[in-house]
Amino acid sequence: MEKKKLVLIGNGMAGIRTIEEILKLLPDQFDITVFGKEPYPNYNRIQLSKVLQGDTEIKDITLNEWQWYEDNGILLYPGETVTKVDKDNKKVYTDKGKETPYDHLIIATGSNPFMLPLPGADKEGVTAFRDIEDCEKMIDASKNFKRAAVIGGGLLGLEAARGLLNLGMEVDVIHLADYLMERQLDRPAGELLQKELESQGMNFYLEKQTAEITGKKRVTGLKFKDGGAIPADLVVMAVGIKPNVSLAQESGVEVNRGVVVNDHMETSVPNIYAVGECAEHKGMVYGLVAPLYEQGQALAKHICGMNHQGYKGSVLSTQLKVSGVDVFSTGLINETAETKSIKVFDEWQNTYKKILVKDDKLTGAVLFGNTTEGTKLKSLITKGANVEEYLESQQGADDGESIVASMSDDEVICGCNGVSKGTIVDAIKAEGLSSVEEVKGATNASRSCGTCKNLVSELLTDTLGDEYEADTKESICACTDLTRDEVVIEIKEKGLTHTKEVMNVLEWKTEEGCSKCKPALNYYLGMINPKEHEDERESRFVNERLHANIQKDGTYSVVPRMYGGVTNAEDLRTIADVAEKYEVGMIKLTGGQRIDLLGVKKEDLPNVWKDLGMPSGYAYGKSVRTVKTCVGAEFCRFGTQDSTGMGIQLEKKFEGLNTPHKVKMGVSACPRNCAEGGIKDVGVVGLDGVWEVYVGGNGGTELRKAELLVKVKSQEEVLEYTAAFLQYYRENASYLERTSHYVERVGIEHIQEIVSDDQLRKELNDRMDEALGIYKEPWNEVLESETTLKDLYEKVATK
Ligand SMILES: Cc1cc2nc3c(=O)[nH]c(=O)nc-3n(C[C@H](O)[C@H](O)[C@H](O)COP(=O)(O)OP(=O)(O)OC[C@H]3O[C@@H](n4cnc5c(N)ncnc54)[C@H](O)[C@@H]3O)c2cc1C
Ligand code: SF4
Repeated sequence: MEKKKLVLIGNGMAGIRTIEEILKLLPDQFDITVFGKEPYPNYNRIQLSKVLQGDTEIKDITLNEWQWYEDNGILLYPGETVTKVDKDNKKVYTDKGKETPYDHLIIATGSNPFMLPLPGADKEGVTAFRDIEDCEKMIDASKNFKRAAVIGGGLLGLEAARGLLNLGMEVDVIHLADYLMERQLDRPAGELLQKELESQGMNFYLEKQTAEITGKKRVTGLKFKDGGAIPADLVVMAVGIKPNVSLAQESGVEVNRGVVVNDHMETSVPNIYAVGECAEHKGMVYGLVAPLYEQGQALAKHICGMNHQGYKGSVLSTQLKVSGVDVFSTGLINETAETKSIKVFDEWQNTYKKILVKDDKLTGAVLFGNTTEGTKLKSLITKGANVEEYLESQQGADDGESIVASMSDDEVICGCNGVSKGTIVDAIKAEGLSSVEEVKGATNASRSCGTCKNLVSELLTDTLGDEYEADTKESICACTDLTRDEVVIEIKEKGLTHTKEVMNVLEWKTEEGCSKCKPALNYYLGMINPKEHEDERESRFVNERLHANIQKDGTYSVVPRMYGGVTNAEDLRTIADVAEKYEVGMIKLTGGQRIDLLGVKKEDLPNVWKDLGMPSGYAYGKSVRTVKTCVGAEFCRFGTQDSTGMGIQLEKKFEGLNTPHKVKMGVSACPRNCAEGGIKDVGVVGLDGVWEVYVGGNGGTELRKAELLVKVKSQEEVLEYTAAFLQYYRENASYLERTSHYVERVGIEHIQEIVSDDQLRKELNDRMDEALGIYKEPWNEVLESETTLKDLYEKVATK
């Protein structure tokens, strides 16, 4: 029998998924031809955000290699656009003059990014964020330019903004609404998100409407409707998408917002179907892959003549792909007169959960900070479950039961690909799968955005029990498969000295590394070879590069060093004069007993430091920060030891020491602990004739009580044990691991054993002295370097 001719217009995610489904059902039934405007094989558009953020490379986001087309007998025309469909003669025509007949035609042309018709929108440096080309444009721009403006504070805009920050740009996000992601989040979650992203260095202009893009040939900035303006060398528009329907429309296929389709994805013209972002089903146009894949499945069954109830519409869910920020929403997000809500706001842990209930049924959820329940909630909401069912499953979770154990077989684990728990468990059992990668290959679960990987891993544990050993080997980032320990060993063994060399010799998957591995490698190299290593400023995060903390409005804050929190009249006078001269926005006492000058312009930083004439307070670095002290025996009625003097000694000794994460200390002179040493990385408490040294405390997002390391008699011993502890932490913790996590991970007994061994303690102290020996005061260093002044602080001419 002659094969039917199946033509697909659009080599994107929805179209090719439909072909995959068809091949699964009837592998030999069709002669398949695919036209794709882009010159690549089918790739994972979702992962473009991760490419921009440096976690993945373009070459790694291909979903179906060239070979796949060949193996399945598919004729692919990449880089070729279909320009006309002749529905009467059942033929399509392309921009390269090709004429191809069809029996079945699938239109899967996706969307076009919506570009605001602003004056100046055609200038060089204005881009959308939709395809590989846009992504490459942004990566290129970041190499030559500094300031990016992203118009749109929705999902895509924020993912672009995070990527541009990772690429080393300063990023302003301009958003029309008064809180972020207002279409997917409610106000509390939107505001928490903003705070979190601000702490990562993003800068926001909310309730702002752009009026014009300025510049001659290339963009130089934005003007707002309210008269304000900001500079920008790159403008990314992420304000929405519109279905790409022009071809369908011109060919006489019915189009509303999208190409109108019924439950079988049939258009108004026989044998022409539409699927994906270009299709409109029951008035809805979808912009996420999960519903598009459901459409693809329905269409495949229809084309293959299988019995199928068709596509019935989808409940959407959203997840932001920005590391360090967990946000999820699904279904209804805002209260109405008919809804009741369950809300949990844990200010301490910075988590927020809202579940909406209507007529006793779950109808929507918003999660911030902890999204582990996301998949479960989506599944319950999709099936219209009763609130009691959720509360019961919660009980199970509180009792330590894994979330997947309490899910029924038809509940969906991978939202993007619509893979249920039952399908995964069956595949694990039938095909003897034993890793997340194998499950991915066999079922498609976690093949798209990847957020369900943990659930898949839990399912493996649940199904295989002891036979499954979760892959606990965690590489330092996606650029390598090596773990932190393996990298450190290799650096030592091979005598590597530079981040680029490490990447090269250890066969990094990316040429330049990413924002995760670059600063980490710089740290490990410095820790291993403090004397020879030349610090690579360009590998450091912005605050460390500029020796000041960047604030949400793009200004900086400056904290002069005040050992032990002690100052004097002369220094205070100087600080006051500087604050006045440079019109600092606010003078604030920090929680660590220092004076913070907030609102200093970047170009003023060197002159501020010069006029202050004080050492840098290191309030910005992954290094020893402040040592907070109580007034102690000299003034306090309860004090038994000189806590202030002890604090000053500690601070002077460890000043400028690079550590895996920031290190804060506190010294009190009696158990009342006024300097709060119980929640510091190192806390020292003076008792009658004894000093207690505590370690691993944290007063930050995860409160942790410090644990007693040792009791000693003298101040010298406090210094010696503290040095041994800090050096051991420096040598063994992962970069960006706080002492609290580190101590918890390895256990206090282990650390006690190490530091109480006289020989080991001495060796650790020797290596600490070596590391401290290279200290240079960073503000002075900048002032002395013309090149640094010019490169980093622009416009600067020290007076
Ligand atoms: C940066 C980014 C991040 C995203 N993150 C997520 C996420 O986390 N989760 C999620 O669910 N979704 C996400 N999405 C959305 C998701 O990628 C889309 O919903 C999905 O790709 C749409 O699939 P599609 O096949 O309809 O369109 P596309 O994948 O866009 O494919 C359409 C293809 O058709 C081609 N084409 C158009 N016209 C013609 C023509 N006339 N001739 C030939 N070819 C043509 C286009 O060039 C394109 O390659 C993201 C999108 C972007 C851009
Ligand atoms: S910790 Fe004790 S000694 Fe220090 S200030 Fe408080 S009460 Fe006084």
